[in-house]
Amino acid sequence: MAAGQGSVWAGLIGQEPLVDALRPAVEAAQRWLSGRADAAMTHAWLFTGPPGSGRSTAARAFAGALQCDEGGCGECAACRQVLAGSHPDVTIVDTAGLTIGVDDVRELVLKAAMAPTMGRWSVILVQDADRLTDQAANAMLKSIEEPPGRTLWLLCAPTSDDVMPTIRSRCRQVTLRTPPTPAVAAALEAGGVAPALAAFAARASQGHVGRARALARDEAVRNRRREVLGLPQRLRDPGDCVRAAHNVHEAAKEESESIAAALEQRELQLHAEAWGTGTRGVRARGENGALAELKRSHKSRRTRLVRDSVDRALLDLLSAQRDVLRLQSDSGVELVNEEMRPELEAASRRSRPVRTLRRIEALLGCREAMATNVAPLLALEQTFLRLARA
Ligand SMILES: [Zn+2]
Repeated sequence: MAAGQGSVWAGLIGQEPLVDALRPAVEAAQRWLSGRADAAMTHAWLFTGPPGSGRSTAARAFAGALQCDEGGCGECAACRQVLAGSHPDVTIVDTAGLTIGVDDVRELVLKAAMAPTMGRWSVILVQDADRLTDQAANAMLKSIEEPPGRTLWLLCAPTSDDVMPTIRSRCRQVTLRTPPTPAVAAALEAGGVAPALAAFAARASQGHVGRARALARDEAVRNRRREVLGLPQRLRDPGDCVRAAHNVHEAAKEESESIAAALEQRELQLHAEAWGTGTRGVRARGENGALAELKRSHKSRRTRLVRDSVDRALLDLLSAQRDVLRLQSDSGVELVNEEMRPELEAASRRSRPVRTLRRIEALLGCREAMATNVAPLLALEQTFLRLARA
C-alpha cells in the first residue's frame, strides 16, 4: 500500500520507496516489543535526503508508526500527538541556531536514558544532526551505540557526509529522494491549489516541497522569484551589479525578518512562562543566563534564515541558466521556467553555451562561498559582477 490518506505517512510526498522500506522495520519493532526471539531492532537511524524532501516529516511519521497500536493509523491519539510534536515520549530537537552544542546533547542523553512513560518507545528525534558540534556528537556516541532497550535515536541530515563518521557508522541510514514533480503537483492540487498553478509551483520548486507550497500560496513569493530571475538581463555596468546584490540581500532580510520575529516572540513568551518572570518581579537564579543564551540563538537563526533565503534566490537563478543551456543544445525540452520560455529563448540566442556555463559556474561559486561563511552581500556582489562579465 502506498502512503495514503488516513495513515501516519500521509504527509510525505513522493516517498513511496522509503515508506515501503520502513514498514517492515515498524513490524519488526512490534515483534521485538512482544519479545519474539527472531526480531532484531535498530536503535539509531539516520534520515538523509535533499532539502525540502521531507526528512523530518519522514522521521516523525516513523516515530508515530512505532508508537501506534496499528503501526501508523494516523488517527489514534498516539499518531496525532507524535505528528503534532506533543507526544510525551517523543522529544523533537528543532534547532534554532546554527549549531547544537554539547550541553543540549547531554540533556538529550539523559532523556534517552529514561523509559517511555506511556508510549512503546522513548524517541529522540534530532532534525538537524548536521548542526551537531564535534564535541556534541562525541557526547552522543555512547548513547547511540548502546541505548536502553526501548530508546530510539532518529537523526536527520542532508547527506551522511554531514554527520561524523563515528555517528553514521552506528546508524542505519534511510534516504529520501527528490520528490518527483508530478507528485508535488498532485499534493498541491489535493490541497486545493488550481492545476496550472500547482504544476508551475511544483516545477519551479525543483522538488522542494515547502518552497512549492509557498510558491503556490503566496503571490508575493511568486513575484519575488520572477524579479530575481529578471536580474541577469539588467546587469549593464558595475553599478547595476551592486544594486542587484543589494536588492536580493534586502529581500532576503525582509523575508527572514517576518519568519524570525514570529518564532522569537513565541520563544520569549515560553521563556517567561518557564521562569515565571513578570509574575512576582523576582528573577530566578540562572534566568539571565538562559535569556542571554536564547537571544544568542535568535541572532544565529536570523543569520541562517538570511543565508537560506539568498540560497533559494541562487537556486532560482541557476534553474534559469540551466534552462538557457538546455535551449542552446535542444529547444524541444521542457524547462523548469516554462512560463518564461520566450525570454529564455531570446537569452539563449544572444549567448553561447560556453558563456552560459561561465554564469552557472559563477552561481555555484557563490553558493560555495556562502557555505564557507563569506558574507552574503559580498558574495552576491562578486557573483553579479561575474555574471555581467560572462
Ligand atoms: Zn495510530
